Amino acid sequence: MGHSTGEEPLGERLGCWIDGAERFPQPWMAVCDPASEEPFAHVPVCDASWVHRAVAGAVHAHKAWQKTAPHHRRDVLRSWARLLRTHKDDLSNLLSRETGKVRSAAASEVDNTAQLTDYFAEEAYRLSGVLPLLGDPQRHTLVVREPVGVVAAITPFNYPLSTLICKAAPALAVGCAVVAKPDEHTPLSTVTVAKLAAEAGLPPGLFQVVTGPGPLTGAALVDHPDVRCISFTGSTDVGKEIQRRAASSVKRLILELGGTCPAVICEDADWRPHLPAMIAQAYKNSGQYCYRITRLYVARSLWEAFVPEFTERAMSLRVGSPEEPDVDLGPLNHRDILRRVEDQVSRARQAGATIRQAPLPGRLTRGFYYPPTVITNLPAHSPLLDEEIFGPVTFLLPFDDEAEVVAEANRSPYGLAAYVFTGNLSTGLRLAHDLEAGSVWINGIHQALPDAPFGGMKQSGLGREKSRFGVEAFTELKTIYMAY
Ligand code: NAD
Repeated sequence: MGHSTGEEPLGERLGCWIDGAERFPQPWMAVCDPASEEPFAHVPVCDASWVHRAVAGAVHAHKAWQKTAPHHRRDVLRSWARLLRTHKDDLSNLLSRETGKVRSAAASEVDNTAQLTDYFAEEAYRLSGVLPLLGDPQRHTLVVREPVGVVAAITPFNYPLSTLICKAAPALAVGCAVVAKPDEHTPLSTVTVAKLAAEAGLPPGLFQVVTGPGPLTGAALVDHPDVRCISFTGSTDVGKEIQRRAASSVKRLILELGGTCPAVICEDADWRPHLPAMIAQAYKNSGQYCYRITRLYVARSLWEAFVPEFTERAMSLRVGSPEEPDVDLGPLNHRDILRRVEDQVSRARQAGATIRQAPLPGRLTRGFYYPPTVITNLPAHSPLLDEEIFGPVTFLLPFDDEAEVVAEANRSPYGLAAYVFTGNLSTGLRLAHDLEAGSVWINGIHQALPDAPFGGMKQSGLGREKSRFGVEAFTELKTIYMAY
């Protein structure tokens, strides 16, 4: 990503999306293809004045939108979901190009995004807004739900569409307006779905997109006095910065932050049938996945058998260009992420750990590729276990008893997800209660469901997305006392 001023940029140009039209403020910012490292598109850098314009349009549009019938809002969202499916091929190609994720994964992100849009359209329609409280027959109390107002949706590069839709769809469905700020490395899919929302009948101003760097465009959105809620998915460091800044005007916050998720493989686990799912969850999206398994705690009695089988499977993952068929891991999204992963693995090596890596295929002479990596013999209490590793790297760690593994797993400052494998459901449930995580999977890993809450404890975040809780998050409760 880089800025270019003055000259006409090469490649595709997409504007930001404000009040129902594409706009082209200057300067331009390049978007690079992670597989070639070459710029292939440009978007505008929106400064504070453009952010102000977007928020002002959203404030205006919200006034009418909040008074529309809920079934109308539902119908618009369902049309949006239909258009996402109609344009799935183009959208997934664009998503794959800007993120570096393999085509099949990009296509399933588009499917998931359409499914979530449908879910939120329906769930918001069922939102119960009025609770008459019994009491004096001439006095009644109503508790109503109102949309919170203008919502800033700030999203990361790893899942640009599915993270966006968990904010935009419920917020729009309950009558809010949304100003989206996609990550500077992956803005194209967000602008494209904004155009589809307009085509679906969403009135101008309700879904604005401002493009630009986080510290400029994102910060202007966070500071704007007319933004009432910030729904942010991204790193814990930026989440903390947003929390500090949002305090000055007491904005509502939903924060979906980082993780270093543990998996516990107990002595009595029938672990072999689960190995493919463990590998998939550890190396998904080339490891750029907040819910991914980073630390595998393996019962010492299983260690000798587990380590070689897990490592062999990890080493057989195929790395290649996102366009190639049968590729498991594409490149990382940008150079900074690659450098950070390289630094973390080199610190593990310096600390005396054993590193297993498959060599990268010789044809990959450019691009931000990193090979699947398995690390063993890391010294106990290494600070690396407390860091998020946003790349295809896992730690295998032996444990002797349940108390020890719970203490080790919970030592992390994060608390997003955890995974337990055991032959005994009571052990599984005990561990699920003891592990500090927003979601725990026992003996199976499937896609997180739209109707189940999603989010983290500790430094993994605040609040929950998805489910009815993720819809209610965009509403304010108002109490109305009546006497008659
Ligand atoms: P990031 O924090 O660097 O950026 C996220 C977004 O914040 C981008 O749009 C960026 O432009 C913006 N931003 C940066 N500085 C800002 C500022 N000062 N003010 C306002 N906005 C600012 O994160 P990333 O590197 O794009 O994404 C990876 C991170 O996201 C990882 O830590 C990952 O765990 C996390 N993540 C969490 C979840 C979840 O559900 N918990 C899901 C996906 C990703």
